[in-house]
Amino acid sequence: MTDPLKRIAILGSTGSIGTQTLEVIRNQKDTFSVEVLTSFNNAALLAKQVREFSPNVVVIGDESKLDMLRRELSSLPVKIFAGEEALSQVVQMNEIDIVLTALVGYAGLKPTLSAIRAGKHIALANKETLVVAGELVTGLARKHSVNIYPVDSEHSAIFQCMAGEWNNPIEKIYLTASGGPFRGKDRNFLSSVKKEQALKHPNWDMGAKITVDSATLMNKGLEMIEARWLFGLRPEQIDVIVHPQSIVHSLVQYEDGSLKAQMGLPDMKLPIQYALGYPKRLKNSFTRFDFLKYPSLTFEKADTDTFRNLVLATEALQKGGNLPCIINAANEVAVEAFLKDQTGFLQMSDIIEYCMMKIPWMEHPTYDDYVETDRETRKLAASRLSSFRPVSVT
Ligand code: NDP
Ligand code: MG
Repeated sequence: MTDPLKRIAILGSTGSIGTQTLEVIRNQKDTFSVEVLTSFNNAALLAKQVREFSPNVVVIGDESKLDMLRRELSSLPVKIFAGEEALSQVVQMNEIDIVLTALVGYAGLKPTLSAIRAGKHIALANKETLVVAGELVTGLARKHSVNIYPVDSEHSAIFQCMAGEWNNPIEKIYLTASGGPFRGKDRNFLSSVKKEQALKHPNWDMGAKITVDSATLMNKGLEMIEARWLFGLRPEQIDVIVHPQSIVHSLVQYEDGSLKAQMGLPDMKLPIQYALGYPKRLKNSFTRFDFLKYPSLTFEKADTDTFRNLVLATEALQKGGNLPCIINAANEVAVEAFLKDQTGFLQMSDIIEYCMMKIPWMEHPTYDDYVETDRETRKLAASRLSSFRPVSVT
C-alpha cells in the first residue's frame, strides 16, 4: 500500500528556500502535494506557482496586490487571501500536514505559533522564530506533540547525525561556518565594503537578508541560538568552526568523544527534502559529491575580533530571556539599512550592541513581552541609525 500524500503549506514560496522547496516537490509528486503558497508582494511568481502546483489556498502579504492576483487567477478554483492575519489563519486548515516556514525574519513567529497550536508539524527554515522566542515555540510544540524538523543545513546535519542515537547524550556540537565573502579581511577593509560585495556569497545562493547575515557572521550567531532550542542544549555545548568549503555541514560529538558529521555539496534542496520526507531518505538526482574536486577540507577558528556579531550573539545565547529577541530586531533594522546603503558594514554591530545595552532585559518574557521588545528595539535601532547618518551641510 502506498503512503498518503503529505500535504504541505509553504510560507514564503517565492523566496530562495520557497522556490527550492517547490523544486523538491516537483520531483516528488507521489510523496507531496501543495496545499498553501504565500508571498509578500511577488504576485507574478505566486500566480505562476499556482498554475503549476494547484494549491487550494494562496496568501499575499501586500493587500494592495489582492485584486490583481484575483483577476490573474480568476479561472482557477483557488482561494485567495491577503494580509498578515490571513497567514496565521490558513496554516490551521485541516488539509495541511506540514508547514514549511520560509519567510524571512520576525514575521515568521506569529504564523508558526498559530500552526503549532493547530497541531501542524513544522519544517523550519525561518530561524528567526526560534531566535526570538525559542523557549515559547518549543514549549508549545511539546504541548501539542508537534515536531519541528530543521531545514537550515547545519541543523539538518546535526539532526541527521542524531538519527539512531536518540538515547545517547550529546557532549557538544560544532556548527560549521563558511566564513562568508569577507573571511580573512580586517576591520579597515570592512569599513568601506558595500552591499554588492556582501551579497556575493562564496558557496550559497540565498535571499539578501541571510546573505548579509552570513557576511557579518550574525547568521552563525543566530544558528547557535536556533540549535540551543532545537536540540535542547546548554550554551556551552555549542561551538562554531569555520570550514570554507561548506562540505561538512556540522558535527555532533558524543560522550565517548566520537564525532559524527554529515557531508554533501552545498545545496539546500537536500535538507529541505530531508525535513519534508523524514524519516525517509527519498531517491533523487541531485548532483553527487566528487572527492577529487575537493582534495582538501579545512577548518579554522572564527575571527571574533573582526566579526563582533558572533560575540554579541554568543552573549545573547548565554544570557537568554529577551536578549536574543533584541539582537534579532536590531539586526533586522541594521541589515535593511545596509541593503539601502544607509549604514556601513561595521556600524551594524554598533547598532545591535547599543540596543543590547539600552533595552531592558527580561528573564522570562511572555509572547506580549516579545512583541513589545521587538517593537521598542526597532524604534531604538532606527533612531540610532539616523544619528550615524551624515548630516548634509547646506
Ligand atoms: P528570501 O528573501 O529569498 O524569501 C523570503 C520569502 O518570504 C519570500 O517569499 C517573501 O515574499 C516572503 N516574505 C518576506 N517578508 C515577508 C513578510 N513580512 N510577511 C510574509 N512573507 C514575507 O529569503 P530566504 O528564502 O533566503 O530565507 C527564508 C528563511 O530561511 C530565512 O529565515 C533564512 O534565514 C532561512 N534560511 C535560508 C537559507 C537559504 O539558503 N536561503 C538557508 C537556511 C535558512 P516576496 O518574494 O513576495 O518578497
Ligand atoms: Mg545555515
